[in-house]
Amino acid sequence: VKKQGKNGHQFYTPELEDQLITNIELETDLRKAIERNELVVYYQPQFHAENNRMIGVEALVRWNHPTKGMLSPGLFIPIAEETGMIFEIGTWVLREACRQMKLWHEHGGPLIPVSVNLSSQQFHQSNLVAYIKNILEETGLEPKYLELEITESMMMDPAVSISILQELNKIGIRISLDDFGTGYSSLSYLKKFPIHKLKIDRSFITDISISNSDKAIVATIISMAQNLKLDVIAEGIETKDQLDVLTKNDCKEIQGYYFSKPLSAEEVEKSFFEPSRI
Ligand code: C2E
Ligand code: CA
Ligand code: CA
Ligand code: CA
Repeated sequence: VKKQGKNGHQFYTPELEDQLITNIELETDLRKAIERNELVVYYQPQFHAENNRMIGVEALVRWNHPTKGMLSPGLFIPIAEETGMIFEIGTWVLREACRQMKLWHEHGGPLIPVSVNLSSQQFHQSNLVAYIKNILEETGLEPKYLELEITESMMMDPAVSISILQELNKIGIRISLDDFGTGYSSLSYLKKFPIHKLKIDRSFITDISISNSDKAIVATIISMAQNLKLDVIAEGIETKDQLDVLTKNDCKEIQGYYFSKPLSAEEVEKSFFEPSRI
């Protein structure tokens, strides 16, 4: 990132230089993070608004950096994407999430799916379907308990996207369209994409109890999903007021700090599974 100078030239500021050094350091460290077991998957529970049952968990990666502490994916996923490390990291997260969910299933935990975020590069990887099949076989997780979260922005070429989605469908996993409403996907394609769920982006939820336009957008997405026979979930619910607007508009699946932050696997067990079960 460069700043524009007065004379039109671009120059680096000290802060940008610091940022650059930090990123290079992080890149070097990230290369070793997997083998050093520094990556951790957290799980954010998703709930049914009417009966408060846990209906799924979203896997969210974190990096337990030796000196900087727990780093959020916003800090290192972009670096992983730029450097190609995203393939190794993404595969690791997928395997770890499937392994954990299978373990929970085996120990009497709820039979719920785990959602895993995919980067665009992973989505377009030619061996994606083969390695997902592999991970499912290796971990023993039934395909219907794996959900992939992809975004509209990955679907710029609808024909290509549809064929990838169809292949993923064939192995029996579920697909959720993440950050829905923030991309540019044309509605006419939505009905052609073989997907199962729309995930309404947090940006529409934040002001939903005070903004009539956000309320209208969310209500429209929910009824569209119902008409297209798609599940719909809202993310980023932090308050009772937001929850009330959503339930009034018939949104049944909910994820957000109001119910639970993303938690370590141990914390999920402690807070949400019966103590004797694991
Ligand atoms: P996302 O997929 O939109 O995930 C939701 C983000 O919102 C998570 O941030 C989550 O902790 C946060 N969140 C959940 N509920 C609330 C809430 O009520 N209020 C607020 N303010 N935030 C909430 P996180 O974990 O920092 O992840 C950020 C992004 O990093 C994710 O956004 C996702 O795009 C990406 N990401 C995370 N894990 C992976 C991964 O394994 N692979 C890839 N490719 N991307 C990942
Ligand atoms: Ca997501
Ligand atoms: Ca996302
Ligand atoms: Ca989001």
